[in-house]
Amino acid sequence: MRFSVVIVAAGGGTRAGPGLAKQWRLLAGRSVLRWSVQALLAAGARELVVAVSEGGESLAANALRGLSGWTSVQGGATRADSVRAGLAAISGPADEPVLIHDAARPFVTAGHVTALLEALAGADGALPALPVADTLKREADSGLVTTPREGLWRAQTPQAFRRDRLIAAYDAWTGGEPTDDAQVVEAAGGRVARTAGDPMLMKLTYAEDFEMAERLAGGPRMTRIGQGFDAHRWGPGEAVWLCGVRIDHDQTLIGHSDADAGLHALTDALLGTIGEGDIGDHFPPSDPMWKGASSDRFLQHAAGLVAARGGRIINVDVTLICEQPKIKPHRQAMRERLAALLDLPLDRISVKATTTEKMGFTGRGEGLAAQAVAAVEV
Ligand code: MG
Repeated sequence: MRFSVVIVAAGGGTRAGPGLAKQWRLLAGRSVLRWSVQALLAAGARELVVAVSEGGESLAANALRGLSGWTSVQGGATRADSVRAGLAAISGPADEPVLIHDAARPFVTAGHVTALLEALAGADGALPALPVADTLKREADSGLVTTPREGLWRAQTPQAFRRDRLIAAYDAWTGGEPTDDAQVVEAAGGRVARTAGDPMLMKLTYAEDFEMAERLAGGPRMTRIGQGFDAHRWGPGEAVWLCGVRIDHDQTLIGHSDADAGLHALTDALLGTIGEGDIGDHFPPSDPMWKGASSDRFLQHAAGLVAARGGRIINVDVTLICEQPKIKPHRQAMRERLAALLDLPLDRISVKATTTEKMGFTGRGEGLAAQAVAAVEV
């Protein structure tokens, strides 16, 4: 089901201690905001708007570097103002579901989203909620007094609504500052459904919450290195594909796919970072489906597997080994092509070339070889 998302990331987060507001802090190497944005984009969000405070656009751009499918909008003085600003920035069908999410809840998953969208089908709003497990006490003049907890729930986010109904409810809202969005829909007479809450949807509020979240996130992330090697034989032809760039040449490389040895070596390097075998395991040469295939898709498949693990490519470095064609005139185009395929800034992409001084199979012009290294943070 198609849905859009507003993430509220405009808060100052002062209760979490000094330093950057909590949505910009790192959790296992990724900003708190990035956790939610990645998860919600992966869950299929059609459009995602991040509401930030004044000057927060550059923080968001930095925190979400390399991700596409999101925009930022300046929020307001209060959470409700930020939600309103985010809603106004969403396009698409007015009655499409919209999820409103707190940036400070980083561990949202596609499963949470699916449950919310299903529950929304029969209600005006849906939210994940946990029963109150602790005994509740109220402070009174006489000391602490026990308060019944039966029927009480802890509301979490994301919360799901039809966008037009949520906007109308906000327009009709005359109360003070609501602490969540379901409250506004309730006040407008809407029925709010409940999905299973999840302790993992906890809101990071205090400094000690970050310590626990860091442990839940798998602790400090590690850097992993993968390497790849490939070679193809020269044969009759008029052009060759290398690192995703077509180069006019008096021969071509022979292979089942487009024989782009540069992309093949790099694909193997990426697969190597996560122990996912080699290119032949994922795209068997015996499968006619890959005959003549552009190797772009092999590389993007490997990058997708890295991303699915929560991995982030740090840098890649490819060396092409041949006497001909001359690589240098095409090196920049190759770097730009790899940067586009991997969604990485140019300075994290290196393409180099060498001859073997006429020695060996590359030196005799029998074939071309490529090797690659990739570093990934997982
Ligand atoms: Mg190959």
